[in-house]
Amino acid sequence: MKALQLIQTGRPLEEREVPVPVPERGEVVVKVVAAGICHSDAHYRAGTSPAFPLPITLGHEVSGVVSDTGDTVTHVRTGDRVCLHYLVGCGRCASCAAGNDRFCTTVQMIGKHRDGGYAECIRIPERSVVPLPESVPFVQGAVMMCSSSTALHAIRKSRLRAGESVAVFGVGGLGMSAVRLAALFEPSRIFAVDISPEKLRLAESAGAVPVLAGQSDPVERIRELNGGHGVDVAIEMIGLPETMQQAVRSVGQFGRAMIAGLTDQPVRIFAYNDLINKEAEVIGVSDHTIEEIEQLLQWYREGTFDFPDRLIETVPLEAGAVNSTLDALDRFAGTVRTVIKM
Ligand SMILES: [Zn+2]
Ligand SMILES: [Zn+2]
Repeated sequence: MKALQLIQTGRPLEEREVPVPVPERGEVVVKVVAAGICHSDAHYRAGTSPAFPLPITLGHEVSGVVSDTGDTVTHVRTGDRVCLHYLVGCGRCASCAAGNDRFCTTVQMIGKHRDGGYAECIRIPERSVVPLPESVPFVQGAVMMCSSSTALHAIRKSRLRAGESVAVFGVGGLGMSAVRLAALFEPSRIFAVDISPEKLRLAESAGAVPVLAGQSDPVERIRELNGGHGVDVAIEMIGLPETMQQAVRSVGQFGRAMIAGLTDQPVRIFAYNDLINKEAEVIGVSDHTIEEIEQLLQWYREGTFDFPDRLIETVPLEAGAVNSTLDALDRFAGTVRTVIKM
């Protein structure tokens, strides 16, 4: 079967012919229908966040149809529509038992530590497979596996309450999900910060107040638009020290700055002005839980949450198209979300 693999960091992904995986005990093989291309994949390709061992098939936003099942698999069958929780935990330790697979000492992420979904098929333990309701399209199912679920995790961890204000830094796949999900919590205002007027227009149509960054200080602009006050919650989805610092600076008294973007660089925080004087909090956001995925799928079924087609571009499973998308992500350009569609 065809797979797009990272052979060497800093080099384009390559198209390779690899054997169709065979499920072991407790595992299933899923024929991939949709696989989202995430900014993290650009980091893995560049080596700023390491994927290993190489070569590896990238892709952690995956939906498809079960094509094969190993022994002892009980909750899915061949032909089932499914989407994949991208973390593979041991299923036995205290972290896994509490639903916090991301802290399992042997946790592996698909498309980072084991082969992911930029391929015709993927092998994964049954435990990480979630049924995809008939009413949720495969492409949207895929986008919910990283973009929307991590955005929901950030919002839940932020303790956002009705009437509070929110600023989302970066309105790509995660940030646009955050804007749409934050709206469900009845905030007073949602500010969307980005350098792309196009993405800001899309965020505005989802109810956000657009704040164009790049030319002037977005933090000043947010304050101005928010009656002279900082916001209650800021969510950083870009992964740059500069925007992380802006997120921290943008919160007001008792504000919570949620850091979800990836960077390997330090962030400067002025303890008195940024934290102490406001009793502000800076909170890390890592991944999400299966419960959050199930919550999203339920909201989608009920019509409460949507990630409309106009936010998504699809490309074929071809190295050229996928590398171009990753190049655009490296430049913080491109569409809100690009998804490989089989
Ligand atoms: Zn991702
Ligand atoms: Zn575990």
